[in-house]
Amino acid sequence: MSEQRSAARTVLVTGGNRGIGRAIAETFVAAGDNVVVTSRSGDDGPEGAHTVRADVTDSASVDAAFKEVEAMFGPVEVLVANAGITKDALLVRMKEADFQDVVDTNLTGAFRVVQRATKGFMRLKRGRVIFISSVVGYTGAPGQTNYAASKAGLIGMARAITRELGSRGVTANVVAPGYITTAMTEQLPEDVTDNYLSMIPAHRFGRTQEVAAAVQYLASDAAGYVSGAIIPVDGGLGVGH
Ligand code: NDP
Repeated sequence: MSEQRSAARTVLVTGGNRGIGRAIAETFVAAGDNVVVTSRSGDDGPEGAHTVRADVTDSASVDAAFKEVEAMFGPVEVLVANAGITKDALLVRMKEADFQDVVDTNLTGAFRVVQRATKGFMRLKRGRVIFISSVVGYTGAPGQTNYAASKAGLIGMARAITRELGSRGVTANVVAPGYITTAMTEQLPEDVTDNYLSMIPAHRFGRTQEVAAAVQYLASDAAGYVSGAIIPVDGGLGVGH
């Protein structure tokens, strides 16, 4: 779903050089927005999007990236906090450093970018925040104590922002993908993917474009009264949670 708008907005997608973030960036480019993606490596995002280097675990790097974006296009109006990592291990074997790394990237990283983006939202008197969480944030998954905690945290963060900034024209929502085919999930062992497939009512894995469509909706004018919500894009995997 893409909608052509008369006025281009400044859209920032963290981790937009590959996977889900890249597909999200592509749909904003197609809608005619000014799109910037971040990557740590400097690897380019999709055609039509600008790329800036940023590491979401480093607030100075995040600040520098925002300054670069603002110099090009003005304040960020739509922020998609998508950058994320996994470092799976069973709880008894999980190293504290691996717990902290995942939380630092997925949850504190999202905090760093949304806090920085809020300066611009206050100037614009509007803003859209979309956090890319995961079905695992509410269903849990063995071996993902760190990841599930970080993804559940994004839901609380979106709801706190909704209450704090709702009167300033800012919405904050969550998209919770299920099993989407990307480089991240291609690394999972075959028995894990087979097991997931058997549990997904749609009986297939999702496409990055299907996640991007939900993000487009939350960023659209039509979703102006939607805040603090979670949109699952999981083929029904998390239904009932
Ligand atoms: P990928 O591994 O394909 O991409 C991850 C992206 O995050 C990359 O662009 C990477 O940048 C970026 N990133 C990682 N760490 C940092 C960091 N410290 N600073 C800045 N950028 C960083 O993942 P997916 O596309 O599969 O996942 C995207 C999001 O969707 C993640 O938050 C993930 O948890 C979530 N998700 C994915 C699901 C799936 O099935 N694929 C299911 C549910 C949720 P770089 O290339 O520079 O390393």
